[in-house]
Amino acid sequence: MDTIVLKFGGSSLADNIRLNLVANKIIEFKDSGNNVIVIVSAQGKMTDKLIKEAKELSNNPSNRELDMLLSTGEQVSSAKLAILLNKLGYDAISLTGWQAGIYTTGEYQSSIIDSIDTSRILKELSENKIVIITGFQGINKNSDITTLGRGGSDTSAVAIASQVKAKNCYIFSDVDGVYSTDPNKIPEAKKLEEVSYQEMLEISNEGAKVLHNRCVEIGEKFEVPIITGSTFNNKPGTTIKEKVEDTNVKSIVKNDMVVLVNMKYETYSLELFNKIYLSLIKNGIIPIKVINHSLYSLNMDILIEINALSKFQIMLENDFKLYSIKFSNTSKIAIVGYGLMNNKEILNKILQIFSNNNLDIFSIDISEIKINVVFKEKIPDTILEQLHAVLIS
Ligand code: ADP
Ligand code: ASP
Ligand code: MG
Repeated sequence: MDTIVLKFGGSSLADNIRLNLVANKIIEFKDSGNNVIVIVSAQGKMTDKLIKEAKELSNNPSNRELDMLLSTGEQVSSAKLAILLNKLGYDAISLTGWQAGIYTTGEYQSSIIDSIDTSRILKELSENKIVIITGFQGINKNSDITTLGRGGSDTSAVAIASQVKAKNCYIFSDVDGVYSTDPNKIPEAKKLEEVSYQEMLEISNEGAKVLHNRCVEIGEKFEVPIITGSTFNNKPGTTIKEKVEDTNVKSIVKNDMVVLVNMKYETYSLELFNKIYLSLIKNGIIPIKVINHSLYSLNMDILIEINALSKFQIMLENDFKLYSIKFSNTSKIAIVGYGLMNNKEILNKILQIFSNNNLDIFSIDISEIKINVVFKEKIPDTILEQLHAVLIS
């Protein structure tokens, strides 16, 4: 009997009507003779709501307590789904991350799955139960609950799929696949039949929410075929697998959730540069890009995720009170596909669009698989539309 893993995201679980659609989908897989493991996210925007509630109580909640709180969202959806499947006549059991044997390492809110003891999962499967596991969480060596970073349920799903040697890992959400750009922003976006792990990793790293980046890494490492599809229809989705032999632009990602911080100080030294960098890491901020413009005084640009902004402000308050600081909301665009490095035609087309629109560019990085452009300010979605029309449609 094949084992398959099905993961359902927040929008798929948002209310009782959708929970019923999810239950029907699970039943289809179970009735086809599979062992079925289900990974769930929290319902709808529950995780956002929990973060907001914690911040209403404290500006700087303890990371341990935040994870304790955030992990409850997934517990609610897993138990509700098990109750529903039981009512529909199917034996189902919900398990939290720790009950399912998921051990983590690293920081709260961005922990990494270290190992999975699959014995409980396998025992429940052997009793013909549908096993429903809370995504996004596990326990660390102190037996404290930790979460895997926003969108981390995808990673829970692929990690479990890799350890139980599942035939496929299906990631179901509100879109039926991976598209040439976010279909909720650009209706002309085209669904991709296949994407390589490497391309998908770039698409995820650049901030397309459709798959969590670490799930793609784990999928590649353990050769788990990942299939994305919609909870709400049966249209064929996108398969993420080994290298796909073509050299076109596959997908364009526009990310507006980034902030450019400029830090100025009257003197500069290598020690100062290192101090700032180490302070970023100490405060749990991984900068996307750091550039120092001057040798005589500090004039440093740091590109960070918007989510890291409150940590950044705490760092400034603690260690860099006397520095002159400027924050600018900005955008970055990534064009992903094999063979971009030597493709002058594509580069020309992109630069033409940027210059026609008078866009102020902060940086351009080009690699074999990606062209990455950071702007000095936020740019509208019409730029994405123009790029998509020229590079893909
Ligand atoms: P879930 O809650 O099911 O985990 P997410 O919101 O994390 O779903 O991911 C699905 C969303 O990803 C879609 O609603 C879509 O707006 C967004 N998205 C961004 N880029 C892409 C893309 N290239 N292809 C498909 N979806 C994308
Ligand atoms: N519920 C978590 C979040 O909103 C995890 C997930 O959805 O994958 O980030
Ligand atoms: Mg997601």
